[in-house]
Amino acid sequence: YDLVGLDNLVANTAYLRAQQVDYDELRKRRVSLTLPKPKNSSGLLLDRKYESVCEQQPIGRKLFQEFLLASNPQYVAAAEFPEELSHWRFAEDEAREKAKRSILAKFCQPESKSFLSYLTGEAAEICKNLSNKNFDEEALEQIKEATRDFLRGKPFLEFMKSPFFYRFLQWKEYEKQKITNKYFYEFRTLGKGGFGEVCAVQVKYTGQMYACKKLDKSRLKKKGGERFALLEKQILEKVNSLFIVNLAYSYNDKTHLCLVMDLMNGGDLKFHIYELGERGIRMERLIYYTAQITTGILHLHSMDVVYRDMKPENVLLDAKGQCRLSDLGLAVELPKGRTICQKAGTTGYMAPEILKQENYRISVDWWALGCSIYEMVAARLPFKDFREKVHNEEVTRRTLEDECKFEHKNFDDPTKDLISRFLRKKQLHRLGSRGEDPRSHRFFQSINFHRLEAGLVEPPWVPKSNVVYARNTDEFRDNSEVENIKFDAKDEKFFNEFSTGAVSVRWQKEMIDSGVFDELNDPKLNDKHNGTFVS
Ligand code: ADP
Ligand code: MG
Ligand code: MG
Repeated sequence: YDLVGLDNLVANTAYLRAQQVDYDELRKRRVSLTLPKPKNSSGLLLDRKYESVCEQQPIGRKLFQEFLLASNPQYVAAAEFPEELSHWRFAEDEAREKAKRSILAKFCQPESKSFLSYLTGEAAEICKNLSNKNFDEEALEQIKEATRDFLRGKPFLEFMKSPFFYRFLQWKEYEKQKITNKYFYEFRTLGKGGFGEVCAVQVKYTGQMYACKKLDKSRLKKKGGERFALLEKQILEKVNSLFIVNLAYSYNDKTHLCLVMDLMNGGDLKFHIYELGERGIRMERLIYYTAQITTGILHLHSMDVVYRDMKPENVLLDAKGQCRLSDLGLAVELPKGRTICQKAGTTGYMAPEILKQENYRISVDWWALGCSIYEMVAARLPFKDFREKVHNEEVTRRTLEDECKFEHKNFDDPTKDLISRFLRKKQLHRLGSRGEDPRSHRFFQSINFHRLEAGLVEPPWVPKSNVVYARNTDEFRDNSEVENIKFDAKDEKFFNEFSTGAVSVRWQKEMIDSGVFDELNDPKLNDKHNGTFVS
């Protein structure tokens, strides 16, 4: 018997089976779960801004909606209008016409009970003048803004005094629970990084699957990687994008710091270029992935973050076939209006300005994207052939001096043009470097970015649910010894700073998606707190 192969098979079976979540079974397991009472202090520490409570945090948003729907017709209309508007925006053809007729009839006719009667001044005029012919994006946006202004006034103040807000405080209290290894079931290793491995985990009481990146504390200390680990965590928890791996929890145990992130079980793009079927990625998929990657990079840049590690290996696919950027280990926040010159990146993807140790900002990511698109087409890099044994100095020389050649048969005109613009050697001449949006290039002609950003464009390729897109478990076995390193008070302080538990937005989304929110929020289960007001 091949025992190693058997180990791998067992690990894969457990991992694949865990992904078929039995929600009825889970529900039974958590019938006794109740929401804690909020501590007096927790309400005071809470960010009470309208944007944070009612827009950014999914549970706050839901409870605010419930509050509005349970109030007067005016509030109900203010709750329903933005929903129907976004429905219209993303709808196509017949459904779009229907959504439009519904908005006009419901919200713009003074005799309708959902008429937007709270609008005043210009917004009120615009609303009355909307018609089948005159139904433009800008006018609607103005009404939406006016609705927002209305909601953040009296309705928001009333909400904060209602039982719905008390319920929100309960959820916030629950969110603060301490996270340990006991919170998860652990499954097979999916990959290996510089400071430890990444394995699949599942939250016991919600069934939610995640990837857990474990950083070995001793190794971190020995190699001085603490600062970068903390930076990676801090940037990860700030991003909220469909195209970047999101952080759900950070915690630590005796030996490791742990980052719990979206599980990307469709494999990385490097694996897809070189290991599956014919080398390279066909054009339809390539355009789709590039569109998502570009949107993810733009999101980082909008936060003044440079990624610095753009390469197919760091782009991972999820179960649906959408991709996200991962591994923000080299990402840094740029000082306002200033440049940096630190050398960082991977050989073959580094821009001329990095190699020459010149000052740079975001331009290096667009260069690396150009190299990555090239690689997805040709299964080699512009200045380094696949598995070519070549010194870094020679790759540097070619990057600085040689023109990029497009010899592979799969390069078409728009793709060559886009890559050439990303591979301009001078930063200022490079597409994207001066803040222009690369997404208007004709390469992306087939993509509706509006729908893409809402996650509504069907992926051109979907991973098979019975395949594990990772190398066999035995290939990750680690034989290197780590000597026993002692930790002092300063280390402990750093471990605590790192271990902040659940990340609000992601955790709240997990509670809603898994049904836990609806179960615990059922007034019949939890009515002992109803009617309790917090001032
Ligand atoms: P390092 O910073 O040490 O390079 P990475 O973050 O790149 O570590 O993770 C190492 C490997 O683990 C990746 O190449 C990938 O195969 C796997 N991996 C990382 N994050 C995820 C994830 N969210 N889902 C699935 N696999 C992942
Ligand atoms: Mg990596
Ligand atoms: Mg890294």
